[in-house]
Amino acid sequence: MIYTRRALKEMKSFLTSEPAATLSPWVISRRLLYDDKIAGRVEQYNHIEAIIDAIHEPVLILDKELTIQSANKAFLKIFRRTKEKTCGINLEELTDDSPQVGNLIKKLKKLSRNKSYFEELELNYKFKNIGNRTMLINAKQISYDNKNSDIILLSIRDITQRKLIEQQKDDFVGYVTHELKTPITTSSAFIQLLQGYHEKTGDKKSQFLLAKVAGELERLNKLLNSFTHVYKAQTGKLDLNKESCDLNELIRETVEMFQYTTTTHTISIEGELKKLVSIDKERIRQVLINLLINAIKYSPDAETIVVMLHEENKKVILSVQDFGPGIPKDAQLKIFERFFRVKEDNQKNYAKGLGLGLYIATEIVRAHKGKLWVESTVGKGSTFSFSLPNS
Ligand code: ADP
Repeated sequence: MIYTRRALKEMKSFLTSEPAATLSPWVISRRLLYDDKIAGRVEQYNHIEAIIDAIHEPVLILDKELTIQSANKAFLKIFRRTKEKTCGINLEELTDDSPQVGNLIKKLKKLSRNKSYFEELELNYKFKNIGNRTMLINAKQISYDNKNSDIILLSIRDITQRKLIEQQKDDFVGYVTHELKTPITTSSAFIQLLQGYHEKTGDKKSQFLLAKVAGELERLNKLLNSFTHVYKAQTGKLDLNKESCDLNELIRETVEMFQYTTTTHTISIEGELKKLVSIDKERIRQVLINLLINAIKYSPDAETIVVMLHEENKKVILSVQDFGPGIPKDAQLKIFERFFRVKEDNQKNYAKGLGLGLYIATEIVRAHKGKLWVESTVGKGSTFSFSLPNS
């Protein structure tokens, strides 16, 4: 096979952009730029093989028909194959799991001069000799003037072990939070009994201290609930109990409840929806509550909050607007990540939180096939909105 100088350069940049590739760019550049044999001549194939052999990640070279032209040492080792039984066969023959292979093959066949690569395609494959594997795949088509000699470089990262560890960690967190719930509920019940007892004895000091303990237990309970939600969101176990719901009513009820608890803000409602929507009512209420808590918490010097409901492009949009300090541009995407809190001067005196509320809200909205976003101007306030399908 013949590689042009351009093709070699493309290969080099592809191979070196692979994060875990251990081949030093220096070695590659030396070989490509200074080794005259590689740079200019036709017997480059062996050199390319040598280069991909030195890479720790499995790499395949395919032709346009997806026949394997070459497989590096890492590939042969990880997939427990011999060169003879690998080179020359079609990619499809590597695995038993045809629907999954079908997906990869479709993507590979779509590669063209205009869209010549894809990255981080996660696939779960069942291999004949090594069983189930989760892999991240990068592919890059390298084109020549003569179309028939186009090749595809496939680099594969086996993330089976990483996935397993993540799963174990999530399961552990799920288990611990679940197990902690029972003693906390029982302790709360005992505290209530004691509170009742001391109301009768009139022991003010004990009443005061028990109220403190009850408050802390409540806080712990809320923390555990947040962790449970995060765990469910991460493991895709956020089951929805969908039912037909009047969003106008849900908003009215929730706003009324908040209006009782806040003495600082007036919450108004704008807009109305003329149809029912199919949602998990309690989870969407949770999202709205979260946005209202934040709107109140992060705008202590303002007096107004507006909840808006309208329909747009066959979607229902619910927004909560506050007139607080706003969120700096560079933090506007990050606040939806786990544990992120803005550390700006304009927010430093506000109530403590875990930075989980918006993450959980995003996952709930996503489970409804909707989106949650923010528009905010520093000094003017923020509007958090989420969309839901309108039926
Ligand atoms: P928490 O409020 O517990 O910190 P959230 O996930 O609800 O967690 O919010 C993440 C961060 O986003 C907050 O710490 C705060 O810095 C910022 N934020 C959220 N809502 C608002 C708002 N309405 N106005 C200004 N900042 C906000």
